[in-house]
Amino acid sequence: MMNRFRNTGLSPWMALAGTLLAGPVLAQNIPTPESVLGFVPGTDRKLVEWPVLVDYYRQLAAASPRVRFHELGKTTNGAPFVSLTITSEENMAHLEEIRQTNLRLADPRRITSAAERDRLLATGKTIVLITSSIHSTEVGGHLSPTIVAWRLATDNSPDTRAILDNTVLLLVPSLNPDGVTIVADWYNRTLGTPAEGSGPPELYHHYVGHDNNRDWYAFTQVETQLTIDSLHNFWHPQIVHDIHQQGQSGSRFFLPPFLDPVEPNIDPLIVEGFNTLGTYMAWELTGQGKKGIVNMATYDAWTPARAYQHHHAGVRVLSETASARLATPIDMPFERLRPGRGFDAKVSSVNFAEPWPGGHWTLADIVDYQSSGALALLKHAAFNRSVWLANFLRIGERAIAGFDGKWPYAIVIPADQENEAGLSTVLSIMVRGDVEVQRAEAGFTADGVEYPAGTYVIGLHQPYGSFAKALLERQDYPDLRQYPGGPPRPPYDVTAHTLPLLMGIDVAFVDQPFDARLSAPIARPDPVYRYPGVSGGGGARVGLYQSYQASMDEGWTRWILEQWDIPFSSVHDADVRTGGLRNRYDVIVIPDQSANGIRHGLSASTYPEEYAGGIGDEGVSALRDFVERGGTLVTFNNASRFAVETFDLPVKNVVEGLDAQEFFAPGTLFELDLTPHALTEHMPPTSTAWFQRSPAWEVTDSSAPITVVGHYPDDPDRVLQSGWVLHPERIAGKAALLEARVGEGRVVLFGFRPQYRAQSIATFPLFFNALTGRPGT
Ligand SMILES: [Zn+2]
Repeated sequence: MMNRFRNTGLSPWMALAGTLLAGPVLAQNIPTPESVLGFVPGTDRKLVEWPVLVDYYRQLAAASPRVRFHELGKTTNGAPFVSLTITSEENMAHLEEIRQTNLRLADPRRITSAAERDRLLATGKTIVLITSSIHSTEVGGHLSPTIVAWRLATDNSPDTRAILDNTVLLLVPSLNPDGVTIVADWYNRTLGTPAEGSGPPELYHHYVGHDNNRDWYAFTQVETQLTIDSLHNFWHPQIVHDIHQQGQSGSRFFLPPFLDPVEPNIDPLIVEGFNTLGTYMAWELTGQGKKGIVNMATYDAWTPARAYQHHHAGVRVLSETASARLATPIDMPFERLRPGRGFDAKVSSVNFAEPWPGGHWTLADIVDYQSSGALALLKHAAFNRSVWLANFLRIGERAIAGFDGKWPYAIVIPADQENEAGLSTVLSIMVRGDVEVQRAEAGFTADGVEYPAGTYVIGLHQPYGSFAKALLERQDYPDLRQYPGGPPRPPYDVTAHTLPLLMGIDVAFVDQPFDARLSAPIARPDPVYRYPGVSGGGGARVGLYQSYQASMDEGWTRWILEQWDIPFSSVHDADVRTGGLRNRYDVIVIPDQSANGIRHGLSASTYPEEYAGGIGDEGVSALRDFVERGGTLVTFNNASRFAVETFDLPVKNVVEGLDAQEFFAPGTLFELDLTPHALTEHMPPTSTAWFQRSPAWEVTDSSAPITVVGHYPDDPDRVLQSGWVLHPERIAGKAALLEARVGEGRVVLFGFRPQYRAQSIATFPLFFNALTGRPGT
């Protein structure tokens, strides 16, 4: 924690003056955002890089006794990762006491008497975590926190006093500081050109781009880890508010309730909490004259990848404000407003009471909706402090009673597993997720099965058992339709998150209580990622294609190669077009991307020439030449469609052109049956494929030099492992992984994502085996 007078640039005299002025806060001594940023936040066409914002927060904390500045660590690109603590001066003086009170309310096993319980409920504060700007092109989120922080530091109205007295606000002004700078740089560089308002030609998070908000259970990225370790698990907030933006032509502002489905392990009190809070915010903002606010639309509450707090006794309030073109205003006439999932932007309804009339939409509007939303949320947290705390405690009590006795007794994880990286990663996720994992100190029997000493045991009578259960069980996604008998209603993200399948380990759910001598909870293991033949170099020369139409799958692949210490170089459009690839590479990997995106890339009418045009016809020829001369081309998922076209392979995608009624698998885990082959070394005969907008093939010419290395089971009932599928029989027995010989070389076609979001460790060997450059046998 940082003393608020350190590193502020203020003289010691000014710091002392700040102390002497304690008492009623004098707004004139507290810097406005404008005084540091150089403009009023929300001014058209004005964005700043992250260091300017950090400077503002440091100055604000130096001047206000209500605000503390913390640097929690460094981002991926080495910038400060920042949070502010904002509360009354009185609370600030007792901050650690308030935190300790909250930790007891979070874990009722630590409360020893009814009197203590009453005292904790009477003296606790509502802990609110507000996070912004995880998605860097949602630029209102860069600026709105300056307004929220300044307002709380300076305002003395009864409402603000109530917020300061009854809540502790943890404010993360950006969950992705690197992206603030990437987008502000790009925007300022392209102002006044055809590219003004466009997205940058790179991922705005160095590795994972927009998927940084899909990392809240895998915890792969440093920004996720800092937020979990230093804020969520350190404070256990009752309320988490995440500030986002959506498209231009729908509602102006989304707030919960979410759409169905709700992940079934989420406590009903959390569901009631986000329903109440979102509806309250909509009510208050409508009273302020804001229009176009929708509840219960577009966004569901299924995946823990976006909602850590739903499995940690906290309520998540997502807000999504309509976008402009980065900081450039737009005109959105009423006729161009479009219906969304659960409402029509032109029609008043019970969850969309007052449509927006259309017109000019600016960054100032965005910042106004976002900051007003955050302040309304804080008011609810303050005025309903006692209910927030009582229900928070109740959620913990229910959890330690095994969800009121409805849950299995424990989850058992054998220590002796083939996939060691998978096992240590699962254990690391559990421990970082605040789950108590113990080890058996002697053999024991559970549900009639004998387990040796050393077995891992996760009891489901603990505060965050919900997190363990949700991630270690199979998902049975409900069959939701747009109307009875109609097409499926797609999930907002994906439908499966079963870690044992993704990471290739066995676990057992035990229903009946059992006796076992158990250790204290284990410390978080630090997985070691090595793969024989490729880690540490010495293998083939690997090129990884990186499009300017930035692909998150490329970023994830790059991340995995670095984590597993596999040398590679990035290959750009100009490198591919130049040709002579075989002199430089043995293997070229093209991550998941559309064939059109690979060939044509970004539009030359919008983007500067250096970023436009994709690999083009020359690039396609160069890749053909590379393979014919003995190179290995590896393609993931949709990039495999590009490979089939480019090499004119005699295979047919059996799901091409089917509508969602005929076949549907929107992010689903399928059983994958493997054939003995160089590509399947270190793999069990049966594994898992992450299927998402994927092809599934039939080889149409049996004399062609194509080997089916992996396929879906012949029995349709065995295809689905976790999540949701309609008509699995269409892909039963079809190919999922092919090796095609072309000239001296080969193409390895994955019909799925073997490295999905760095989670599918089970199938990493299939990818790594392809990097040895050795053709199959
Ligand atoms: Zn977003």
